[in-house]
Amino acid sequence: MRITSSNKTPYLNDHYFTSLCLSYFPHEDFSSDSENEAFFRLDEDGGVISAKVVITCGSKMGAFELSENDIEQVIPMERNQVAEVVLGLCFTECGKRLFGFVPCWGHLAGLRPVIRAEHYLRRYDEETVKRLFVSNYAISEEKTSLSIAAASLAMEETKKLGDNDCFLYISIPFCPTRCSYCSFVALESRKLRSLLPDYLDALKRELSDKAELIKENGHTLKGIYIGGGTPSILTPEQERDLFLAIEGTMPMGDVIEYTFEAGRPDTITEEKLRIAKEHGVDRISINPQSTNDEVLKAIGRSHDASLFYEAASLSEKFAFRSRNADIIVGLPEDNDERFEKTVTDVLSFGFENITVHSLTVKNASLLSKDPSAYDPRGSMVLRHLSSSHASLISSGYRPYYLYRQKKTVGGGENCGFTLGGKACIYNIASTDETHSIYGCGSGATTKILTPSGIKRQSNARYPYEYLKNRKR
Ligand code: SF4
Repeated sequence: MRITSSNKTPYLNDHYFTSLCLSYFPHEDFSSDSENEAFFRLDEDGGVISAKVVITCGSKMGAFELSENDIEQVIPMERNQVAEVVLGLCFTECGKRLFGFVPCWGHLAGLRPVIRAEHYLRRYDEETVKRLFVSNYAISEEKTSLSIAAASLAMEETKKLGDNDCFLYISIPFCPTRCSYCSFVALESRKLRSLLPDYLDALKRELSDKAELIKENGHTLKGIYIGGGTPSILTPEQERDLFLAIEGTMPMGDVIEYTFEAGRPDTITEEKLRIAKEHGVDRISINPQSTNDEVLKAIGRSHDASLFYEAASLSEKFAFRSRNADIIVGLPEDNDERFEKTVTDVLSFGFENITVHSLTVKNASLLSKDPSAYDPRGSMVLRHLSSSHASLISSGYRPYYLYRQKKTVGGGENCGFTLGGKACIYNIASTDETHSIYGCGSGATTKILTPSGIKRQSNARYPYEYLKNRKR
């Protein structure tokens, strides 16, 4: 897509124009030889901000103009916010005329709408925030209610935390096979998995370093999240060893939540769950993504639905405080009937947390090489998001964390739901950036909240680079 602009104001930049275009063209690369084009004009004349947008898509063209005099500002706004709203509404109106719809998240830029909802809920009542989202940001009523509900619960949950509380994230980036939609570093071949013993040694050394840092910063460790990859790919001995290393280095006395993202049902055994329980884990995740075997095969999983049912039943024995199941909408080979069964299946096991992800096709995934395998416009994604959210809410679940990603099919979102009092507080802290997080392992990022903002430090992305760096 080609983007041209005439911006006579100091308020927005070209990057903002690009991010707007992603809502109608999520898989575009912004090259100059594309047949799609967008033109943005932003002006401030006599103190009045006005915008013009022209979008050309193949042989079709749409254009729209809007000024700040044409809109109702729901709350008092700074000039840059007025520019954002005028240009954004102009863009979505132009897109609606051309494509016949407004994206469900309107023109809201940024991947964390809940942070914005929290910001406004601290200052205005819920009705005003609703009107602001719908009228000024063109967000659908459904997504507005979802983000306000998630923000309200997240704010309630974070009251349990003090300013100096922090979390620890440990990355185990190894998996039995690579899912076709995966863009994470998830080493799956036998040769690469042979790195695991060295990787765990390096991880243990990093745990000591991070424990020191937590102490130096005067932080209190409140939660631990072992994620991946697939942490349950570890052998029982490796798993026990890792738990012992955590206990031997970290200040565990104030920990209120301990997640072991078991992940893939084909790696979960009774022994591994028992070890996790013995070492204080109180939250596990078992992620089927779908309970249809055709879908599981199409996404490159090496297990069928029966293994998920077994792992889910097995987990019931251990009375973890909370169990999460991840499902994904929009997967290849999925359809209405199959997806409805997936939702019914995860609900039937009484998971305390259920996270509904939207299919996201990033360039690093195998699926990006095969666009015919999924619906890039994402009408199924949006339909299945609505139906699953409705089923969860009518079964007593409440949304508690939510984030969007670039290249999500249909412009949907990922949203975690919880049954009463069982929200994963780490998920809230990491998506809403409310507390410091110390990351260990390859691909992990340490984010320290300071009065002047968040200081980030990322480890090497790939395990072999991580090992090399640790040796140095
Ligand atoms: S289980 Fe998760 S991390 Fe592993 S390959 Fe699949 S999507 Fe990637």
